Amino acid sequence: MLRITQLSIEDIRFPTSRERDGSDAMNPDPDYSSAYMVLRAEVQGEPSVRFPFPAGTVFEGHGSAFTIGRGNEVVCAAIRAHEHLVLGQTLEDFADNPGAFWRHLTQDSQLRWIGPDKGAIHLGLAAIVNALWDLYAKVSGQPLWRLISGFSPEEFVRCVDFRYLTDALTPDEAVELLRRQAPGKAERQARLEVEGYPAYTTSAGWLGYPDDKIRRLCREAVAEGWTHLKVKVGRDLPDDRRRLQIIREELGWDRKLMIDANQVWDVPQAISWMTELAPFRPWWIEEPTSPDDILGHAAIAQAMAPLGIGVATGEHGMNRILFKQLLQARAISFCQIDSCRLGGVNENLAVLLLAAKFGIPVCPHAGGVGLCEFVQHLAMIDYVVVSGSWEGRVCEFVDHLHEHFTDPCRIRRGRYLAPQQPGYSTEMKRASRVKYQWPGGEVWQIPPA
Ligand SMILES: [Mg+2]
Repeated sequence: MLRITQLSIEDIRFPTSRERDGSDAMNPDPDYSSAYMVLRAEVQGEPSVRFPFPAGTVFEGHGSAFTIGRGNEVVCAAIRAHEHLVLGQTLEDFADNPGAFWRHLTQDSQLRWIGPDKGAIHLGLAAIVNALWDLYAKVSGQPLWRLISGFSPEEFVRCVDFRYLTDALTPDEAVELLRRQAPGKAERQARLEVEGYPAYTTSAGWLGYPDDKIRRLCREAVAEGWTHLKVKVGRDLPDDRRRLQIIREELGWDRKLMIDANQVWDVPQAISWMTELAPFRPWWIEEPTSPDDILGHAAIAQAMAPLGIGVATGEHGMNRILFKQLLQARAISFCQIDSCRLGGVNENLAVLLLAAKFGIPVCPHAGGVGLCEFVQHLAMIDYVVVSGSWEGRVCEFVDHLHEHFTDPCRIRRGRYLAPQQPGYSTEMKRASRVKYQWPGGEVWQIPPA
């Protein structure tokens, strides 16, 4: 059996606030950070049928959750709090029934009290679940997207904990939904390998960037083949108008422009502010208000419909139940899953199924550190297995910090190329982990400018 014998945790932080990378109306000075962990697993006793490796063979699974600096130590502690649920378990048990294993990780009643399914404890869970899937994919010799794309509908559905979902979607319905997509699966997978998955860039539009930098970055984005671009808004209306004017001058009107308010508005304010920005023809407004306000999102969506503007949200969507309600209330036109906010791969698969049931396109949130690497797999699974389409769908891309990963995402002419290395692309280079370790790493010994 392939038994998990060790869980190690690292607090890794990048000083991105020094250049205002990642700045928006709510978060002016993020230091992109990773609550990072490694699971060590060793073949003990007889090799299993599923994983037939000789005794003593060692594998590692890497996972993380994303934070923006202070508080990363809290998520590291949340990972550690789960240790007793992970050590001694086998990868065979996980692979036989990933949904049951996920529930096992979330049903320690004392830990559940400080959630449930939300906050720092859920971020810690996400890191662990991501590491388990990285381990499973590495041991299987496949990139995660291809491993899961190879599951039968029944195997796929077994990854999901359906508790609290069955009023919207039952396991039987989910199997049916996946069976309907099965005939085109091989063709879509082949097409994905050649063409890559459609993406959009947020690299040009951080709120803290000066006008000349925005103009230059927009020009570069167009030259690189980007057809969809997102910028931050919501701090100051005249400032938003001026910046959107610059961006439309560079993009023209055929390319899609999305805007993101990062939760700063109340509901009436969101509607009036967006009415002012409607002439710039945004494709969507992202996070117009509190991520927990389902009815508020629904009211904004209703007001935006005549303007031709969709509402997008989800990067702060804490769990599958919140997504279920956003979909039931017709509060979103675009569903933005996040690989490290939801409870890892399993809960993301649940939301992919829900979105497909309600006919809402999934446009994953990325950026941060590692999020592009991870979520590309989920977007590809959605295309190959679940929704069966990439029309009207784009996966976010931000050109930061990829050099620290052993299997960095690859972009060509505005599309993510399908990952080829075994695993979930979650592994950060050891040298980077040493250099950026908080607070002892070399980069943190230099005083901020
Ligand atoms: Mg956003």
